[in-house]
Amino acid sequence: MSRFLLIGPPGAGKGTQAARLAESYGIPAISTGDIFRFNVKNETELGKLAKSFMDRGEYVPDSVTNDLVRDRLNMDDAAAGFLLDGYPRTADQVSELDSILDEHDTSLDAVILLTADTDEIVRRLLNRAIEQGRTDDTEDVIRRRLEVYEAETAPLTSVYASRGLVIMVDGLGAIDEVTGRIVEALDARGYAN
Ligand code: AMP
Repeated sequence: MSRFLLIGPPGAGKGTQAARLAESYGIPAISTGDIFRFNVKNETELGKLAKSFMDRGEYVPDSVTNDLVRDRLNMDDAAAGFLLDGYPRTADQVSELDSILDEHDTSLDAVILLTADTDEIVRRLLNRAIEQGRTDDTEDVIRRRLEVYEAETAPLTSVYASRGLVIMVDGLGAIDEVTGRIVEALDARGYAN
């Protein structure tokens, strides 16, 4: 079974690595950010609500995000494993995920913490703003997203570390290199791809 989380600051390369890992382990990558962006693009009610938070660099409220993830994890394709990218991000989301997995009589296998220093992150995000035109990649919003990450999400890693689940991986370097580091670390823990 492969039930993994990918945690890290905005711009650490989570989305890129999640797609590759999902492919290599044959599990769905579930990105709350991507689900929100899909809804924003399609102008759904969820999208309108999410956009008002995303454009300011704030988190979408837990109640909304938790319901969305619960529904997604209840889908058949997540039964044999998944890689959650960008969730959980708050203490409340950690508890919710624990409950969802409890209900399925399962638990997490590993939490991949992708690290990157702030200068590199800002450089990557400003670059992405040019390449992808994301409305939350302006300098002010980037700064706010980093602040929110430090305040709300960074402390969560100690929760997972106390459970012995955290694998810290340097997100700096070529995309292939970083994927290699993650696969190697998971392999060392007995999770072969
Ligand atoms: P991401 O693509 O993961 O950087 O997410 C982009 C934006 O979507 C974030 O800045 C938040 O506004 C929102 N978002 C994504 N995942 C979550 C989450 N787990 N909890 C709250 N907001 C989220």
